Amino acid sequence: MNTLYEHIYKSSPNAVANLLVTLYNIRQFRIRHGGEYPNFRKYFEQTENWSPKEIENEQLKRLRYFLKHTYEHSPYYRKKWGGLNLDFDRLDWNMFRKLPLMTKEELQKNIKDICTINPHSAVKFQTGGTTGVSLQVYYTPRNIQERFAMVEHFRSRFGFKFGERTAWFTGKDLLNQRDVSKHRYWKTDYQNKIQFYSTFYIQQKNIPYYIENLNKYQPPFFSGITSSLAEIAKGGLKAGLKLNYQPKAIFPTAEMLLKSDRVAMEMFYGCGVYDQYASSEGAPFITQCKNGHMHFEMTSGIFEVLDSKDQPSDFGELVVTSFTTEGTPLVRYRIGDLVELETKKTDCYLHYPVVKKIHGRFTDCLYSRETGKVCQGNIANSVKHVNGVQRFQIIQNDLDAIHVQIVKTDEYRKEVDECKLAKELRIRLGKQINIQFKYVPEIPKERSGKFRLVKNYCKETI
Ligand SMILES: [Zn+2]
Repeated sequence: MNTLYEHIYKSSPNAVANLLVTLYNIRQFRIRHGGEYPNFRKYFEQTENWSPKEIENEQLKRLRYFLKHTYEHSPYYRKKWGGLNLDFDRLDWNMFRKLPLMTKEELQKNIKDICTINPHSAVKFQTGGTTGVSLQVYYTPRNIQERFAMVEHFRSRFGFKFGERTAWFTGKDLLNQRDVSKHRYWKTDYQNKIQFYSTFYIQQKNIPYYIENLNKYQPPFFSGITSSLAEIAKGGLKAGLKLNYQPKAIFPTAEMLLKSDRVAMEMFYGCGVYDQYASSEGAPFITQCKNGHMHFEMTSGIFEVLDSKDQPSDFGELVVTSFTTEGTPLVRYRIGDLVELETKKTDCYLHYPVVKKIHGRFTDCLYSRETGKVCQGNIANSVKHVNGVQRFQIIQNDLDAIHVQIVKTDEYRKEVDECKLAKELRIRLGKQINIQFKYVPEIPKERSGKFRLVKNYCKETI
């Protein structure tokens, strides 16, 4: 939204603001669901039944096209690959793996030269600022249609139909002061039947207002920021509040789904929680199948898992090449997340590799002089057997200490549960590190509306 539009929106009465939200979304959804969208939906339905060989051939075909397009239209990549003598029509996996890797900093620094399209005809996306610097990337409308087709194809595995009422928990700045004082934390898109809920006011005292409105709107589907969907669930359970209807599916996005959050959501919403992984800079997708596995969606890009020496591994850094980033191409891009592949053979109707666990951002790690770098996925597990932790965050300012902030529920017994948590953290971080606990009524979110489990401000690294 531009500043003038935002100003008009913010000063409008509620009915007008809802109308503006509706109009804005009619335009957005016309782009997302127009053009090639229906064809991509068919494409994903078909490719899902393909054999491993057919999938590999398709990947190679799409990779060749994507790299050729990138080379021809991106000044940055043309220069970077200049000396490699690439023959895109005959490119094989070995040649592909010789292409240089790209970091997030490199993408940020060279974004203008990397970009292949005129920003005026592009669909813009702002990436979250959790790494410090936020970034604007540009998509072609066709790529956007493919990305939405992919997401909605995944959701359709669990009964989702676009146009049925959806509660969408968003990190967008939706509300004005009047809304907040009236405890009205949502806006409505009447056309697409989406109720957008602000994630910035989800505190225990406001949760009854959210739940009351959900009971009035009765959305069968929920999507949006994972920690916010979980906070509503945990807060609702804590206050003894219930939904007065039966939702069909919960689709958390944008953050790692913690086991404890999944359990709370299943309990409160009373339906399945279905996970996906992507990113606003355009990573290919990892989605949940009907059997509950997380699979690489092989028609959305190339996934590599590399160890610290950049060699293929079952556990390590995820490096992605994404077919739907023709506007701002991502080729062998270090997305910054750690993943672990399933090494056991998995029986499934989908012939795509299975991801055992997404460990999350490796920049969101804790450091220990004794045990080294400990990623947040591992840290998240430390509350598994501790009762009454509604939410927690660990801040590290130097190598010798961590500060654990906890929002506790009535079940939390300090004398028992603090010891348990400390023990679990020591298993991961060693005996010497100083652990300090602080109990807080709430933990603030980032500007993007997301929540960070680990915040590491250490100058020294391991
Ligand atoms: Zn599966």
